Amino acid sequence: MTGTHPLLEGLDPEQRLVAEHLRGPLVVLAGAGTGKTRAMTHRIAYGAATGALDPRHVLALTFTTKAAGEMRSRLRALGAGTVQARTFHSAALRQLRYFWPQFAEGPFPELIAQKAPLVSRAVQSVGISPERETVRDVAAEIEYAAVSLLGAEEYAERAQRRSLPEGVDPDAMVRVLERYGEIKTERRVLDFEDVLLVLTGVLGSREDIAAEVHGQYRHFVVDEFQDVSPLQYDLLMRWLGRRDSLCVVGDPAQTIYTFAGASDRYLRRLPVDFPEAQEIRLVRNYRSAEPIIGVANAVLARTARSPIRLRGTDRTGPAPAFTEYADDAAEAEAVAARIAAEIGGGRRAGDIAVLFRTNSQSRLFEEALSARGVPYVLRGGERFFARREVKEAIAIMRAASGRGGTDPLDAQVRAILSSIGWTPAAPGAQGAVRERWESLTALVNLAQDTQEKSALPVPLTAFIAELDDRAEHQFAPTVDGVTLASVHAAKGLEWESVHLVGVSEGLMPIGYAETADDIDEERRLFYVAVTRARTALSLSWSKGRRGGSGRRPSRFVSEIQAERRTTAAAPAGPRSPAPAPVKCRVCARLLTTRAERNRGRCAECPAEVDDAVLEAVIHWRSAKAEESRLPVFLVLSMPTVRE
Ligand code: ATP
Ligand code: MG
Repeated sequence: MTGTHPLLEGLDPEQRLVAEHLRGPLVVLAGAGTGKTRAMTHRIAYGAATGALDPRHVLALTFTTKAAGEMRSRLRALGAGTVQARTFHSAALRQLRYFWPQFAEGPFPELIAQKAPLVSRAVQSVGISPERETVRDVAAEIEYAAVSLLGAEEYAERAQRRSLPEGVDPDAMVRVLERYGEIKTERRVLDFEDVLLVLTGVLGSREDIAAEVHGQYRHFVVDEFQDVSPLQYDLLMRWLGRRDSLCVVGDPAQTIYTFAGASDRYLRRLPVDFPEAQEIRLVRNYRSAEPIIGVANAVLARTARSPIRLRGTDRTGPAPAFTEYADDAAEAEAVAARIAAEIGGGRRAGDIAVLFRTNSQSRLFEEALSARGVPYVLRGGERFFARREVKEAIAIMRAASGRGGTDPLDAQVRAILSSIGWTPAAPGAQGAVRERWESLTALVNLAQDTQEKSALPVPLTAFIAELDDRAEHQFAPTVDGVTLASVHAAKGLEWESVHLVGVSEGLMPIGYAETADDIDEERRLFYVAVTRARTALSLSWSKGRRGGSGRRPSRFVSEIQAERRTTAAAPAGPRSPAPAPVKCRVCARLLTTRAERNRGRCAECPAEVDDAVLEAVIHWRSAKAEESRLPVFLVLSMPTVRE
């Protein structure tokens, strides 16, 4: 009898199946907090420990630098610290830089962090006034065109049907796109999406380079796969080549980037692209206490893509709070007071988050928390190492490191950073001053952590090497404090206590969400938000901006209440059997609303498909399923039916 491998302990049976599936394609479909990320990191570590996966040949991919950083620390803790865990962008950038001399002339182009200045020029050159909002919306549209892999003609055709930035008609938008491309070429710069686009092109046209990349990376793992864009999917397929060592995990109900061209169709289509793919579903949410699961399920019940309900682990917790305030300032003040009380009661500031729909909502909360002396972290780690103050700090540490590297590391770093104006206390001011202080404090904290973890004094040179390594991975340190983040940035993360603010019509759902699809994306975003909480959840909104009125609570709040009334009204005593699940006749998703059940199709699938055609498709699908002994769900390709 052999005992269980230590890396499989602490996994439930389904998670264990994931960890042990080390050959061939694998799809893990499961709800929020069910341990998808945990199962996949254990799979990598277990594969590495047993020799099934060579850690040098594994590439683990995520979508945000914070998530990549999280994954690296989880892997390190499991003894698989040599595995590369990166965002698509960072992995692509590294390869592009490396191979650049082999396919291009001249030095590597400059990367632009912000599109806005170039977009502004492009917009002006076609005679449109470069208002801030116009430039912002046009930049988003440019990104959409790039990540959707739309050529000029396809885009021109698609633009007719898209809601474009105000004052920009489809023809003008096409001209702006062309002009933007020309300006980049003239200036020899690449933007964020170009990094992936250029690399994809190179891998498609240069077999020697593709072969070298294939030799390096042999096993691919992708977290949050529901948010993959066509461009990222294309690149992933180039990386994979003809091989099939691919494990993806995702939750269709958490698709929140469709506005940027992402789509869960790749997640659902994977079993079609890889017919040998095994699908595993995780069933239990380990993250949240029961009252939070109740709220999450009430939201899920209303989303158009909810094949599942979350099942918790019976952990008890306080009932989620729903509170309306007179105005925005009162809301910020009250939330800060609640947070201060939580910290007073012993909760760590780092275990608390304030989440909002748009970044502009953060200012009042920053002010209210500062006024109470509560530490907070505003920005995520994005582009940390590109910040001016961080570059300056590293340069000055480098210069100081030759001077016979004797005080403890953290004391040295404090002294050096004090010379460029850093102080231990947070500044009262917000904005750039606060952000600069936050960046420098993050470096001080990292120095302290590094020193505390080491039995011997850490030389400054070793600390700088650690920073260089982190810069290369874009793995930013942060200060310990209450997290203030947009819901988009909070994806994949969790906190003991979550305060979701601004839950009103116009903010959540956001005012420009108009179509049923837009609203459903907002609902999924709301679902992502509430499922970040482990123990405590509070939702709040205000009646108006200042002493104002006119705002209504979000429809999502009334939906939760309505769902709960339905659940509460269910007859007591012996439970009536649950209604038989009805699946969409086209895509086989579980139908959740009565309207969908009556139609026999989910809201996404076309109603106009001729019934005879549909029957034929269903027949074909069942035959295929029978043939391959896979569940019907696995052999269906939605796009095929749509055509
Ligand atoms: P999300 O959809 O938000 O990305 P997820 O499915 O990736 O969530 P994880 O973040 O991996 O979920 O796990 C959620 C929480 O549950 C984590 O705190 C994790 O440590 C814990 N957890 C997962 N599986 C188990 C388990 N088998 N036993 C105990 N705790 C678990
Ligand atoms: Mg996760």
